[in-house]
Amino acid sequence: MHEISALNEAVKVAERVAKENNVDKIKILTLEVGELTGFLPVFFEKYFSMLVEENPLFSECELVIDNVRGEALCDECHALYNVMKNEGRCPKCGSRSKTILGGQDFKVKNIGF
Ligand SMILES: [Zn+2]
Repeated sequence: MHEISALNEAVKVAERVAKENNVDKIKILTLEVGELTGFLPVFFEKYFSMLVEENPLFSECELVIDNVRGEALCDECHALYNVMKNEGRCPKCGSRSKTILGGQDFKVKNIGF
């Protein structure tokens, strides 16, 4: 259930930004969720409405999840591949030695007023 604490943090960030900008409604909250974080986007949608239920700041807010693929570059043959799909192994040469290029982050990408 790491999704709840991550989402909690994201809501706090959004609240702070809204306060700094003197706005009382957030229209869109976009979260970037990397495939390699292990977070399941479906949980965010489920918990978000519960989390902000009594918070007027989010009463008209739409949650947008931007999924980022977990890409890696093979250290052996330099093939670019999707980590999840290939179970962390280069589909070309079978090596597990790799450099992760993306998909490890969870962050607030955009807050729309
Ligand atoms: Zn390879």
